[in-house]
Amino acid sequence: MVDLIGQYQKIKPEVDKAIHEVLESAYFVGGPQVKQFQQNLENYLGIKHVIPCANGTDALQVALMALNLQPGDEVITTSFTFIATAEVIALLNLTPVLVDVDPDTFNIDPDAIEKAITPRTKAIIPVHLFGQSADMHTIKEIAKKYDLYIIEDTAQAIGASYTCRVHDKTKKAGTLGHIGCTSFFPSKNLGAFGDGGAIFTDDDDLAEQMRVVVNHGMKVRYYHDYVGVNSRLDTMQAAILDVKLKYLDEYAKARQKAATYYNNAFANHPKIKTPVTASFTDHVFHQYTLVLTDVDREGLMKHLADKGIASAVYYPVPLHLQKAYLDPRYKEGDFPVTEQLAKSVMSLPIHTELTEEIQKEITDAVLAFVGS
Ligand SMILES: *Cc1c(COP(=O)(O)O)cnc(C)c1O
Repeated sequence: MVDLIGQYQKIKPEVDKAIHEVLESAYFVGGPQVKQFQQNLENYLGIKHVIPCANGTDALQVALMALNLQPGDEVITTSFTFIATAEVIALLNLTPVLVDVDPDTFNIDPDAIEKAITPRTKAIIPVHLFGQSADMHTIKEIAKKYDLYIIEDTAQAIGASYTCRVHDKTKKAGTLGHIGCTSFFPSKNLGAFGDGGAIFTDDDDLAEQMRVVVNHGMKVRYYHDYVGVNSRLDTMQAAILDVKLKYLDEYAKARQKAATYYNNAFANHPKIKTPVTASFTDHVFHQYTLVLTDVDREGLMKHLADKGIASAVYYPVPLHLQKAYLDPRYKEGDFPVTEQLAKSVMSLPIHTELTEEIQKEITDAVLAFVGS
């Protein structure tokens, strides 16, 4: 689905130099590269505070921990996302409240959010799924009306720009709510050579609280005011990410170009729906996801695999139907859009190293199976 070796080869001298500097300094945790990357990411995102951490799941957990919520408080999120989003809510003894998504963008449906609000609702976690921003204007209006926190899960959309259709201001996805969370898992759009994550906010108090939480709940060394966690981005990953951050916009352009090729190849196909980008966001195509109608999806995936072509289903099981998250509040049929997408989506390889020759092979193989 990605070509991390090809991507590395293109920037190898720069990355190797950065890695060797860390090796020579032996400053493996808390080295100056961490602060440097933090500042460069703050500038890139146009946000006051970036707090680096160990991974995207921790980012979400730390964000929730900083809000001082009580057990049983409700957090609304989407049923169509990677498990991490709901996992951290459950881990903290908060109650995940799931809602359905928009069938075109796959992102959380703001009307469904408003319907799910109760007196115990404290926060909303919109996920900017597959690389485009959720409808943040509407979500922010709802959050204001009901006094809720917004934590954006932008693990898949770092670098995407969102333009408010009312205020006409453009900001980066992840900088629109109270807190944004991202992941530097190797296959993400800004990928480390291992795990990594970051939390962003413009709020000084939340930033201070989250810096304390990621560091064992400690403000003064060995004095612990809160129960925290140990979540750090190590120096090596920060050094690598600082090199790759310079290429993030270029990487997004390469992904967008690849998406356009696929869009053209499948245009107006009766059985293949290509990705729809909402008017208020651009799309950085963390995934390129088709919706198939009347197609034997498993058969198609096997046909592609036989030709050495990767494909994947993100995500085959909605959260409310996952064994660990079964809950008497929910049953099959509650989130029809999510359930239909889980049965009919399929993602094709999308990354920075695709060529038109490779893409032609992929689209020819898909069309040979589905019919053109
Ligand atoms: C990858 C991802 C995460 C978790 O990130 P990790 O760094 O793997 O912990 C959370 N949410 C979404 C939507 C993701 O895609």
